Amino acid sequence: MRASTPVQRVAWWLGLFAIYVATALLGLAIDPVGGFATLVWPPTGIALAALVRRGPGLWSAVAAGAFVANIWSGAPPLAAAGIAAGNTLEAVLGAHLLLRLDAFVGPVRRVRHALGLLAAALSAPLVSASIGVFSLWLTGVLTVTKLPAAWQAWWLGDVLGALVVAPVLLEWQSGAQRSPARLGSRALETALLIIAVLASAALSFSGDPAAPLQRPHLIFPALIWAAIRFGAAVTSVAVLVISIIAIAITAQGTGPYVTATTLHENLTALQGFMGTVALTGLFLAAANAEREAALRLLAEEHSRLHAIAENTTDSLTIKDLEGRYVLVNPAHARVLRSLPEAVLGKSDEDFFPADVVRILRESDQRAVISDNGVLSEETLLVGGEQRTFSSAKAPYRVDGELRGNIAISRDVTQQKNDERALRSALGMRDEFLSIASHELRTPLAALSLQVSGLERAISRRSSATEESQRELYRAGRAVAQVDRLTRLVDTLFDVSQITAGQLHLQREPFDLAEAVHSVIANLSEQATRASCAVSVFAPVAVTGSWDRFRIEQVITNLLTNAFKYGAGSPVEVSVQATDGIAQLRVRDRGPGVAPDATERIFERFERVATGHHQKSLGVGLYIARQVIDAHAGVVRVESTSEAGSTFVVELPRAADEPCPTAAPEPQPTPRAAS
Ligand code: ADP
Repeated sequence: MRASTPVQRVAWWLGLFAIYVATALLGLAIDPVGGFATLVWPPTGIALAALVRRGPGLWSAVAAGAFVANIWSGAPPLAAAGIAAGNTLEAVLGAHLLLRLDAFVGPVRRVRHALGLLAAALSAPLVSASIGVFSLWLTGVLTVTKLPAAWQAWWLGDVLGALVVAPVLLEWQSGAQRSPARLGSRALETALLIIAVLASAALSFSGDPAAPLQRPHLIFPALIWAAIRFGAAVTSVAVLVISIIAIAITAQGTGPYVTATTLHENLTALQGFMGTVALTGLFLAAANAEREAALRLLAEEHSRLHAIAENTTDSLTIKDLEGRYVLVNPAHARVLRSLPEAVLGKSDEDFFPADVVRILRESDQRAVISDNGVLSEETLLVGGEQRTFSSAKAPYRVDGELRGNIAISRDVTQQKNDERALRSALGMRDEFLSIASHELRTPLAALSLQVSGLERAISRRSSATEESQRELYRAGRAVAQVDRLTRLVDTLFDVSQITAGQLHLQREPFDLAEAVHSVIANLSEQATRASCAVSVFAPVAVTGSWDRFRIEQVITNLLTNAFKYGAGSPVEVSVQATDGIAQLRVRDRGPGVAPDATERIFERFERVATGHHQKSLGVGLYIARQVIDAHAGVVRVESTSEAGSTFVVELPRAADEPCPTAAPEPQPTPRAAS
């Protein structure tokens, strides 16, 4: 329904009124039962189409048209009013039924639309026929005996009016505007169709009624031609033209439907046949339109998929169960150094050596029997160059039947080369770290001895003079810096050893609680500098067989972190034993560790921004985890931002715990805490 101006609305009202009156008078002129119940009633179709297209607001034009036409034909005012009411109700009801059909705004494009039109055409006239005939009987125009024949003629006339006339108006009023242009471009075929419709209508409905040859079926080829080649709009016009010709010829008393004595009986038989013609055309055109729409959709879908396959740089293939290509996109054809159409029907044997074919076939077959497909990596010789492809392959089914496999492959050669280069760079870095830290340790050890000796000498001859105290202070700073440098180099050396898989444990039985006390005593100066009061809860000895040096290194790392990140707050340490497990907990009141970082902080060189990271290497926790792993234990952090962090170490106490690097150490490695 379109929005319209008041002038347009008035024009529509007047137009509908005038056409309704004109066609009603025409219908009433063709042998009506009792003067008013006619077998030819185009106004039903006109009113139905008008109300569907312009809205039910036009009902008053229908009412006025029906009233005037009947008064004009001599109906008593009361009968005319009743008939007008029935006809108006018929149009409103029919339009309501059609508008309720989803997407039905006029032209019949789907079988469902044709069914809707049929339902409206059959049901709405029940109302007008019943009310009209009742009005005529009430006002004495019809006697009781004539009622059945009048009702039948009325209903049939209205049904035909709806089926023959409404489709024409619905089709040509709406989206069919493009039809004349389309018809123009097929002028010859259109002309032939017009000739065929007119000729077959004339042939079908004319002839001597007494002659044995009855040929109304001759109309169908032209009708089918119109429906299949030209669509619903042209078909609706063809049906209307055939109907007019058939009624005109039959009314003249010739043709196959002139079998009875009265025109009424002949028209009744003809209208039955015309109903069949109209429905055939309607449903055929609708089914054809639906099929064409589906084909258009399919073609669109096909061109989309085609565009993807043509333009992607990934290889796209479909192979049948024998490994023959049934679809190849240009990207894959380039890999095969061929053209897509030249590859079809061939298999990998035609392009690759036997060993490559075996690998490709193997992954193809795995894909075929898989549920969700497989991923594979294949190296092929392309243009004399080895290229690596990463492929996703899946079963290819048609209507549930297994037909082969479908594959998408990407050339990942560059990516692989980059990965190799990265791995090699990382290897070189680790090697450099290992050599540098190892080489630095010898001169550092000598330097440390020298500086400590110097400090002792200065302290021996120092006096209370300011100059002497300054010298002593400087010597102390030098010793501290050399110690720090030694610790850093030792840590780097440890990391390179661990990375190279050379962490060897030297187990010995000892008490974890006592080790904790000893480390805390060593770090007391650091704790004081960080203003951390350290409390220890270790009620009983917790002995086990572990590498004492390494475990002390872990405790040192955890405590150093607690002083660093929880400076100014107390640090609590506890040592307990449960079920063969020794548990060490180090708790601080620092900022805690963010939930998404609780695993990451145990990685090599991993630092989480806390304000301290500039000074750190990010390897303390990495070493701790490697050491605890080697003991088949676990280390983790429990943390909330309010409560700080609690690092938990759990170690199996049994002396015979498997040691992952059980090989005996060739030479004791010099060791240091980080
Ligand atoms: P770093 O030398 O950076 O301290 P670590 O391996 O010891 O290296 O720690 C890794 C990261 O874990 C640190 O950068 C820090 O962000 C976080 N972290 C370690 N201990 C604590 C702690 N007690 N409280 C809060 N964050 C910590």
